[in-house]
Amino acid sequence: MNSLNAEELIRELIERTAGEVGIIIWELKPKKEFTDEELSIILELEINDVRKALFALYEIGLAEYRRKRDDDTGWIEYYWKINYDRQKEVLKRELLKAKKKLEEKIEDESLKMYYICQNGCIKVSYEQAMELNFICPKCGGVLEYLDSSIAIEKIKEEIKKIEEVISNL
Ligand SMILES: [Zn+2]
Repeated sequence: MNSLNAEELIRELIERTAGEVGIIIWELKPKKEFTDEELSIILELEINDVRKALFALYEIGLAEYRRKRDDDTGWIEYYWKINYDRQKEVLKRELLKAKKKLEEKIEDESLKMYYICQNGCIKVSYEQAMELNFICPKCGGVLEYLDSSIAIEKIKEEIKKIEEVISNL
């Protein structure tokens, strides 16, 4: 997370949750409602992939739909709309979630003592290290006390960056 820019973050979120197809749909910026079928024709993509991406966008609040019965076929059609006006709200919610996770990580790091193999194979708790007689089961190396202060500082920096983005939204 180096460049924390709202536009990029929302793209990252879409890519992570709705994949490439999600990004393609997002960038299409459709002006009016559309059915998944129409969209799959316009984008020349499999309708199932389009549907999957749309529901993923719906899950995070970036898309919504209404169902309508087609008078001719009797089938239920989904009419979709992308919620461009909700992107800040969605991003803020996701950033707050990420921030909370990082805060929990800090708490975890500061409460627990960790030991790490001198060759970097494993990271274990103090209790586990005791059980292993401070010897790495993988390589036989010594398990050394891990100073978590540097890791904590890094996490704090991440949190600061997130807070900056949130305040600039
Ligand atoms: Zn090792």
